[in-house]
Amino acid sequence: MQYVRQIVGFGPRYIGSPGHKKTEEFLRNHLKSDNLEEDAFSAATPAGNLQMRNFIAKFPGSKDGIIVIAGHYDTLYGRKDFVGANDGGSSTGLPVALADKLRSQKKRDGYSVWVVWLDGEEAIKQWTATDSVYGARHLAEKWKNDGTAAKIKGFLLLDMVGDSDLKIEHDQNSTPWLEDMVYKAASGLGYQSRFFGRNNAVSDDHEPFAKIGVPVADLIDFDYGYGNVFWHTPQDTLDKLSPKSLEIVADVTLETVRLIDERK
Ligand SMILES: [Zn+2]
Repeated sequence: MQYVRQIVGFGPRYIGSPGHKKTEEFLRNHLKSDNLEEDAFSAATPAGNLQMRNFIAKFPGSKDGIIVIAGHYDTLYGRKDFVGANDGGSSTGLPVALADKLRSQKKRDGYSVWVVWLDGEEAIKQWTATDSVYGARHLAEKWKNDGTAAKIKGFLLLDMVGDSDLKIEHDQNSTPWLEDMVYKAASGLGYQSRFFGRNNAVSDDHEPFAKIGVPVADLIDFDYGYGNVFWHTPQDTLDKLSPKSLEIVADVTLETVRLIDERK
């Protein structure tokens, strides 16, 4: 929650904004000892070519293979009235806290874990297949070509995970066996009532990776305020969030990582 607060304090974080730049500098500084890779690229968008950048922190493990934990750090494009505490803030800050945890464990007894901050999740004009998830589409293409995709055992996406009334969707665009594993992790930790109360087919950063054969699960609460009223509005502010919700998603994510490590 401290990280979410700090990142929201940078202001709106859409591509090209001062807050976006501050977030990049924060990630660069915070993750400098974590084999940090910066994946900078230029994306063709309805607003012309825009410079975007994904960040990848790598925590080595003893087993051959990679588990990815990802979130997006950009906020709604061009919106100066939107600080995105949940949509952008939670998906930036929680992976930072998970990276802290992974760093403290020294070498993992399990697969390597790569923590990824994706850019350009939000549409530049209006959400379509070609105007959305720019960072994810770029990275999926790169990982398909360089052979990384074939090594990924599971891709866990965190998005809108801070709502004090946490309800994670049973996402129909995720990989069924990995969704089952997330549910098993949640149930084992006593968080069953927070997970999979409804089925939903979510369009998000996981889809480009699913398309190239990577097992994916999107942990997203797409019911932010009654009827999702806070989503993409100036009401997406820190007071709607709870540290407990972030903790639940963090614990379930790490437990799912453990279950993937054990999977035959
Ligand atoms: Zn959004």
